[in-house]
Amino acid sequence: MSEENMKAAAPITKGIEDKFHFAISDACIRCGACAKVCPVHAISMGASHYEIDASKCIDCGTCSHVCPVGAAASPRERRDSLKVADLDPAKCYFNPGCALRLYKPELPPLMLEVLEQHMGPIHEHDICCRHDPHLPEGSVIISNCAGCDRRFRSLYKGIETISYWEVVDSFQDVQWPDYHGIRMSVHDSCGYRHKPQVHAAIRSLLKKMNIEVVEAEHHGTTSECCGDNFYGYVPNEVVEKRIKTRADEFPCQDVVVYCIGCERAMIDGGKTPRYLPDLLFGRESRTTADTLDEYHTALNAFIARH
Ligand code: SF4
Ligand code: SF4
Repeated sequence: MSEENMKAAAPITKGIEDKFHFAISDACIRCGACAKVCPVHAISMGASHYEIDASKCIDCGTCSHVCPVGAAASPRERRDSLKVADLDPAKCYFNPGCALRLYKPELPPLMLEVLEQHMGPIHEHDICCRHDPHLPEGSVIISNCAGCDRRFRSLYKGIETISYWEVVDSFQDVQWPDYHGIRMSVHDSCGYRHKPQVHAAIRSLLKKMNIEVVEAEHHGTTSECCGDNFYGYVPNEVVEKRIKTRADEFPCQDVVVYCIGCERAMIDGGKTPRYLPDLLFGRESRTTADTLDEYHTALNAFIARH
């Protein structure tokens, strides 16, 4: 980000984010199972059934998996993103997100190159989603990060979004690497839980790379948090326990991830993360990770500078 933009960028106002959360419907039979498992104690008995305090919910999905009647669920997304067919390249900006830029700064230029080969010149955009993007109304941000997608779309007037995965999956003639039928599971990020079109695009890309997907019980729209969302809300030991529990759910040792927080979590959980941009460009993902505190401290410092 330029010096000028750094000065202009204002931090977001807390509380206005189009935050995802779960909710409990009238189908609740008041068994209390969900309240017992919620890591942040967001669930309590209301006037006629159990209720979720949306301001406390961290969108982890645990309650929905213990509810015997399907009453705890994620409400429909409030604002949807664009479809590939509606994209105007002249209005598109590619923003890879802070976590990826911090992880491997050499990947975003490769990702942009694929876009430009098929769409012509695409603007680069490197302002963090937690700061005013300083873009004209009608701009479209193409991002690989679920959190960036959500924040850009919900926090800033007139900004549209679409996932990088849907866009590149629509290109017919890309020669992606061939992984010769290797079996991998996929961990779907919480921020994209509401977007089956993203899950489909990612599996399509994996198929094009000759990767056989072996799904975990909870995947796609029923995916569970890897544990990273818990950071800062519960003691680190609880976060680490959650990470291990989630990692153990995957049938394969190799787990495809598309969020750096999830990538770090899979290493902690004893799995071999296969970060999707690494797979697309034939790179190895790392096998050792920073501690929870180191990762979040470094990321927050990077975000503050961008
Ligand atoms: S989604 Fe997670 S944090 Fe939210 S209410 Fe359910 S269990 Fe609690
Ligand atoms: S688990 Fe389901 S039925 Fe039981 S209290 Fe929670 S929402 Fe109600």
